[in-house]
Amino acid sequence: MEKHREQKGSRLVFVLYPFQGHINPMLQLATIMYSKGFSITIVHPQFNSPDPSKHPQFTFTPIADDLSQGKVSPADLFGAISALNKNCEEPLKECIQKMLKAEDTHDRISCIIYDGLMYFAQSVADHLKLPGMSVRTSAAATVLAFAVFRRGDEQGYISFLDLMSKDQVTELQPLRLKDLPILRNQDVADLVLELRANLSDSVKKSSALIVNTMDFLEQNALKQIQGLFPTPIFTVRPFHKLAPIIFSSLLKEDTNCISWLDRQAPKSVIYVSFGSLASIDEKELLETAWGLANSDQPFLWVVRPGLVRGSKCAELLPKSFEERVGERGCIVEWAPQLEVLAHGAVGGFWSHCGWNSTLESICEGVPMLCRPFFGDQNLNVRYVCDVWKVGLELENELERGNIEKAVRTLMVNTEGEEMRKRAMHLKEKVNLSVREGGSCYNSMNELADQMLSLRS
Ligand code: UDP
Repeated sequence: MEKHREQKGSRLVFVLYPFQGHINPMLQLATIMYSKGFSITIVHPQFNSPDPSKHPQFTFTPIADDLSQGKVSPADLFGAISALNKNCEEPLKECIQKMLKAEDTHDRISCIIYDGLMYFAQSVADHLKLPGMSVRTSAAATVLAFAVFRRGDEQGYISFLDLMSKDQVTELQPLRLKDLPILRNQDVADLVLELRANLSDSVKKSSALIVNTMDFLEQNALKQIQGLFPTPIFTVRPFHKLAPIIFSSLLKEDTNCISWLDRQAPKSVIYVSFGSLASIDEKELLETAWGLANSDQPFLWVVRPGLVRGSKCAELLPKSFEERVGERGCIVEWAPQLEVLAHGAVGGFWSHCGWNSTLESICEGVPMLCRPFFGDQNLNVRYVCDVWKVGLELENELERGNIEKAVRTLMVNTEGEEMRKRAMHLKEKVNLSVREGGSCYNSMNELADQMLSLRS
């Protein structure tokens, strides 16, 4: 990592979207910019507040969001995006106006850096004549997917819903629009349209688009986005290789699993986690449990509160399962995932393929068993299985026999050998990109320079 250099008096204001998969990359980016000498203010909705005591170097400012008053369920993600953008605009404006009043030459706001889903922040930045930068925490391909829809509408020859039901769109190949099923959902079509227009507008007005990806993973998509938007684009992954690991979990991490991992053979453990939002039913929990037990591999399984719809999870696992696996299985409510994936005992990751989990696995050369649930996860799986070829998909109903077979292919069978080698090869590419002169290293420095130049 580059030595801390003084960005005299320059402050960056980060605006968070309050869900785990968004909070992590934003706080990691803030940590890197802090290491480059910027002062950092984190503005966040009251819902899912991060814990300021874990980041004493930052100033935290909560803003009212109106989400907790029962009008919008945070589980309804489109509704939450829409509500946050309506409810938080005035509070953010007031908060930044106060900061501007208190400004002096030793502490000036350089830029507002907002999660792209909090697009109202660009209007606030424009209103206050401050530069804004939009951060996309998902794949570059999702930016492209939205941009492609916009062109279709403008040309007027294809309806939005027809376009979304098409399998192949030239710009996205080999990814498919049908890999984004939420965008084809009639019930939320209006909200998708609203989101699409607002995302595109804010990116066009912003001083830069920051994408949570690595250029060598998404060259095609990035090249096309650059052709569609005049805005400069910066790719900023992998954060945790460029700055110390930070602790931004909303749930308490159970670190006992690390000493359990220390007792396992190299590359023998399958790590299983479906992220912070996905849920399964009781039957799927039991099939998963028995599939893991029958695979004969050691496993570390995250069974977070809320994973099983309507039940207290771990209580559902029968005694016979516990007796069968004994010390071979370790179950936690929340894991220190970056540390787990970097541990030498971990040889595979059964994941829901949230974008952060996908990138974190790639950074450590861990091949993936993919089980997508919703949103962009289907699209991420296409990257993992068909483009980078570092994983296999667990399709159809969750069933113990299929799980057992897939885990063994991923971890030990000769069938999975090439996939495992490719995963290690991708890790080497990541390592090269973060070295001095590497693409990620350079992109991060150029971004810091750009931030500094905006309001000098
Ligand atoms: N995570 C973690 N511990 C766990 C499970 C997940 O720290 O037990 C972190 C993981 O490292 C990732 C984030 O939570 O950074 C989940 O984001 P992702 O985009 O993968 O999925 P989402 O939760 O948004 O569906």
